[in-house]
Amino acid sequence: MLDLNILSEQTVDMPQTPYQARHFINGTFTDSADGRKSDRVSPSHGIVVSQAAVGSEAEAEAAINAARTAFDDGRWSGLSAKDRAAVLNKVADLIEQNEERLAVIETLESGKPISQSRGECGGAADLWRYAASLARTSHGDSHNTLGEDILGMVLKEPIGVVSIITPWNFPFWILSQKLPFALAAGCTCVVKPSEMTPSTTAMLGEMLQEAGLPAGVCNIVLGYGTPVGSLLSTHRDVDMVTFTGSTAVGKTITKSAGETLKKVALELGGKNPQVIFADAELDSAADAVTFGVYFNVGQCCNSSSRIIVHEDIAGDFIARVVALSRKVVFGNPMHPDTQVGAIVTADHQAKIDGYVKDAVDAGAELCLGGGILNVPGLGDQFYQPTIVRGVTPDMAIAREEVFGPVLTVLTFRDFDEAVALTNDSTYGLSAGVWSENVHTCLAFARKAQAGTVWTNTWMDGFPEVAFGGMKESGQGREIGRYGFEEFLEVKSLVMRIGRSRAPWVKTA
Ligand code: NAD
Repeated sequence: MLDLNILSEQTVDMPQTPYQARHFINGTFTDSADGRKSDRVSPSHGIVVSQAAVGSEAEAEAAINAARTAFDDGRWSGLSAKDRAAVLNKVADLIEQNEERLAVIETLESGKPISQSRGECGGAADLWRYAASLARTSHGDSHNTLGEDILGMVLKEPIGVVSIITPWNFPFWILSQKLPFALAAGCTCVVKPSEMTPSTTAMLGEMLQEAGLPAGVCNIVLGYGTPVGSLLSTHRDVDMVTFTGSTAVGKTITKSAGETLKKVALELGGKNPQVIFADAELDSAADAVTFGVYFNVGQCCNSSSRIIVHEDIAGDFIARVVALSRKVVFGNPMHPDTQVGAIVTADHQAKIDGYVKDAVDAGAELCLGGGILNVPGLGDQFYQPTIVRGVTPDMAIAREEVFGPVLTVLTFRDFDEAVALTNDSTYGLSAGVWSENVHTCLAFARKAQAGTVWTNTWMDGFPEVAFGGMKESGQGREIGRYGFEEFLEVKSLVMRIGRSRAPWVKTA
């Protein structure tokens, strides 16, 4: 008998009508010229949540032209940093004022619990404020030690027109990891959200307008990867593409952007381990592993979908995580107590189930779950909390992103084996280490091939601390000073004072 904590009840009000998501091009909200729209049906509630314009090359071209013109005439980059920061801070205020409206639609489009949507949408205001503060810092450096009659300066200037392409799993947060930083740098932008979760991005367009962002500085085009995303990553008038999504699409974008040698920044997939040493504080570690696998319904680039646990404590540790998993609240995402909601699409649910069934067929053992979950009153686009042990490193479930509430367990005997298993992955996004011995933690952090190493914690993030991946998890960094600098181009200036330059041609 699967003894789980399932909540069917709902307390958050549903919207009365579907949200109408439209393109935002050159300061104006528009439908597509051909009138095409798509309905987004809620994965948890089965209702049409939003009707979004489906863009074609015509809308993408118009948005790129608007961004190009707005960059070239300096209507944004020519403003003082103080004025640009004021607009970003105003957007942050509007995001906070609209938190509930954003969160409700984010939950209904994606299936994630309302508490996590509130944190994601409202919390994103801090990213906007932090980016505003960076706009006012000095960019570049100067050199007055080159000689008495010569000065050198390294300027950092906005890179130009930036395409921003985002996924469905954290639509508002990921947008806010990119857009305010690009705007703070003085760039102009064209944004394309996922076709599955377009609405909170379109709502942000309303806030940008209200905050007084000049027309054309940020344009939003709704629609599919092809043709909209493809044009945004190939067009000659785009200077940089920043993409978050799957590694497969990231590779396609890198190839197509290579035709015009535009800069590409990528935040891609992960197969992130948490490594539990035998001396770890097991209560905290078990809670963090439980959080790491179920947060955002496991549909998270940072999901700690594999744990690597010392063989001496594996049985005890798995029992703790199983016990905690039974207490996690699964069910109606429109209740503030729910911690795990619905799976984004039925196709994705079938993919998750396939990974689990294949692993079991290959000899892995289910410690919990392993099947579709029915939530009374809402249907069965949910998945049981699932823990699989007896997994070998060659199984697909141990190597590929499952992107669901599924934890795989591997065991190790010594430090070197823990590091080898950690790094035995094409991905390198994040890794975690749990030990009471600071030397073990530091040695692991130095050896782990991961953009972020969490030590005795998981998924603590701050606008100040850069985020990104190694290997096939991406290139470039987001947020923090490093993320901001991705949107700046370097220009060097060398200046002679007076007539101090020595002639090259001897005239006497
Ligand atoms: P996806 O790659 O299918 O789609 C992402 C975006 O790319 C969407 O807007 C889509 O329309 C667009 N797109 C699709 N084909 C395109 C093309 N040929 N050219 C240009 N754009 C195209 O990803 P997804 O399923 O929306 O998101 C899940 C993936 O995102 C997972 O792999 C996850 O790990 C990754 N992700 C990574 C991070 C990170 O920070 N590293 C964060 C969140 C999600």
